[in-house]
Formats: sequence, structure tokens, C-alpha cells
Amino acid sequence: MNTLIQNGTVVTSTSTTKADVLIDGETIREVRAGIPAAGANVIDATGLYVIPGGIDCHTHLDMPFGGTTSADDFETGTRAAAFGGTTSLVDFAIQARGTRMRDALDTWWKKAEGRACIDYGLHMIVTDLGQCGLEDMDDMVREGVASFKLFMAYPNVLMVDDATIFKALSQTAKNGALICMHAENGSVIDVIVARAIAEGKTAPVYHALTRPTRAEAEAVHRAIAMSEIAGAPVYIVHLSSEDALNQVREARDRGVPAFAETCPQYLLLSIEELERPNFEGAKYVFTPPLREKQNLPKLWKGLKHDHLQVVSTDHCPFCFEDQKILGKDDFTKIPNGGPGIENRLQLMYHYGVNQDQLSLNRFVEITSTAPARIFGMYPRKGEIAAGSDADIVLWDPNAVYTISAKTHHMRVDYSMFEGYEVTGNARTVMSRGEVIVDRGQWLGKAGRGRYLRRAARGGAWK
Ligand SMILES: [Zn+2]
Repeated sequence: MNTLIQNGTVVTSTSTTKADVLIDGETIREVRAGIPAAGANVIDATGLYVIPGGIDCHTHLDMPFGGTTSADDFETGTRAAAFGGTTSLVDFAIQARGTRMRDALDTWWKKAEGRACIDYGLHMIVTDLGQCGLEDMDDMVREGVASFKLFMAYPNVLMVDDATIFKALSQTAKNGALICMHAENGSVIDVIVARAIAEGKTAPVYHALTRPTRAEAEAVHRAIAMSEIAGAPVYIVHLSSEDALNQVREARDRGVPAFAETCPQYLLLSIEELERPNFEGAKYVFTPPLREKQNLPKLWKGLKHDHLQVVSTDHCPFCFEDQKILGKDDFTKIPNGGPGIENRLQLMYHYGVNQDQLSLNRFVEITSTAPARIFGMYPRKGEIAAGSDADIVLWDPNAVYTISAKTHHMRVDYSMFEGYEVTGNARTVMSRGEVIVDRGQWLGKAGRGRYLRRAARGGAWK
């Protein structure tokens, strides 16, 4: 059965045109004005933008952390994503120290199986290269895990040393994968944290005050320098500060293939949130932390001028009542992470497009097309063109929506953006040709989402 989207305005990363979109099964067959209906199921998109489904390339569903697990699993998390217009995500499998990466991949495939409602890829978090790590990386690339994440923070948990980072970067120079870096100087931060705790500074705000922006900038600088020596591109995840951004911009100005993402929380919220009374600051404890207000306009400018290429969410929800509370007497025990998978497009559209910080095409690029390219999914994902998967959002630029934990679909008891009123929202969401959300109604099915085998030598290599 064919579907024809009529009378809409097709918006891609490069063009805005009045055109119809003909879908054949799971795939877009044709995009042009005046396609005859010829028996197709017609969807009227008058007054709507027809955009490629959002791609969130940084999520943590069903993730163990500090004795608890992130509150959304692959079913609730991908369903919430779909409500907000996101039709693909890339989550993180975590290699436990001393184990093979294949074990982690199997574990995360099992977490997603029968649950995922939209297509999903996986990055591999490398905690240990051991004897077989470099071989394992090649094996993962063959399985479509075309990117790896390494931590320069969290000593004794996830942090790896510079030798490991450099070896991993060097391996990608051969196998074409992309290294993603959590860039913060964890050793220095741990000393500052220990001092704060010794002085009795245990409230949530000290999570932010013990992680200076220079510790982020230093690690970004070091990651980029190592990538240059290895002859490989590098991608900085969740960049949060002007200090760190300056490092990326300086490298890109020299022609170095350094890439970076930021997240809505770093563009819209600042350190004051952590000072909320009654321990509510814990709702805003994630890493890197929220920064001083003066960073926000710099990050917006960075997005506009392509010093930053992607907006992801780092969605990693923990409930306030029974999970965040674990750190009531010690901020170091607060599970690190916040919810956001559902609200990314709404926030970027409202605060980006409506407030003239981003063009409509740039909005599509940073939320869909750029992550598709960088992470080896393009042009199957992130594009409205013949041959691409029919992952399509009919976006209503005039829909007014109030973000609230009372109505959101994420399985978490608070919103970081409670009460924010945004204009612009997904009306109809299609994943591989199937309408899974329509006017706030869930029509999808758990388990329909497929694993995305991603290609090496994606956009970061071109
Ligand atoms: Zn993360």
C-alpha cells in the first residue's frame, strides 16, 4: 500500500519546497509537486512541515549506574522519543572491564529486542582494550557498531588512560569507525571533589562547582591533539561550555576533523538550577554539569556557525523520589543523568527557529541530517529523498504545547523543563512508512524497531 503526503512543505537540511512525498512500503519513492494520488492512502499535510525524523545519537536506556538503572527501557524510551518526533536513536552498550565487546553487544541487543519502537543503533563504550580490544573493535565495526565512546572522566569506573585512547583512535584510522569522547579531566576533578566532601560540601550544587570548565576544555584539547597524532577524526559528546567550544573551533579552523554535539539542557539551563531547595537541585545533576549563564549564547552561536554540529539529549533519566534521593547526603552518590529524549525537537524548534537562533534548515540538520551523516546512517536516515527510509515527521509549526511530567511519555517523575510552553510540535510521526504517532495517539508497537547497522567511514571522514 502506497502513502502520499500531500500539500505539505518539505524541509531538509538544504531546501524548503512545496512538494508531495510518495511512500512505497517502508521507503520514500518520490518527492515532487503534484504527484497523483492513484489509489494511495493520502495524508493531508496542509500547513505542516514535512521533515526527516529526528535522530538522537546519545541516549542511555536501561543503563546501570551506581547501583541503579536508568528509568526508561528500550520500550518506554523509544516510545517517548517517537512522541517528540525522533525516529532513530543511537544508544550505548558498555563493555565491562575484562570482558569482550561482543558480550556487551549481545547484552544490549537483548535489552532492545521485543521492546524498541523505533530503529536504534549502538555505540560501544570501551573501558578496557586488554589482549583482544583492537580485534574486538574491528569485530564491532563488522556488526554495524561504527563508533566507540571513551571516558576521560570517572576514574576507576569508566576512565581510560591516554595510551588506551590513542590506541583506539589509531585503530579507527584503519577501520573507519569514529571515536566519541567524554572530555573532562577526571583525575583533577576527583581531587577537587574529595576536597569538597572533606569540607562538608555535600549539596547538589557542588556537583557543578567541582567540575570546572577548564577541566572540560583541557580534555577536549587533549582528545583533539591525540586524534591529530593518530590521523583520525574525533567527536566530542555533550559539550557544555564556551571554554571547551573554543578548543573545537580552534581545531576546526585549522582544518582538523573535530566534531562536537551539545544538548538542550546546556543551551537552555544554567547552574542556578542546582541550587533549588529541598534537594530538587539533584534533578539537574548530570555530567558535564550545567554552567554559568554566559556560556549559553556562545553555544547557540557555535551551533549556528557549525562549530557544533549536532544536538543530542544524553537522555539518562533517574526518578527523583527513589533514585536521585540516593545522594541526599552526598552529591557524589546522586545518579548522574536527566531526561530529555521526548523534548529535543520541541525545544530546538521553539528556542532555535522561533527565536531566530537557527534557520529551519539548520534545525533539520542538527537534529537529523548531521547525526545521520556523522554516524554512518546517511542517506538511509536523515533525508527526505527517493530511496531513503520513510522516517517522516509532519511538524505543526503553530501547535502550542506545555512540557510537563504530568503529560510526558518518559518513565520518570519530573521534567527538567516543567511548565515550558513551546510553539511547534510533531503532529504525525512515521517510522519506515508506518504511522506510529498521530495527534498525540500512540499507534506503534513495541519490538517493531530494528537494529541499525551503521557504516564505517561516515561523514566525519569526508
Ligand atoms: Zn551520556
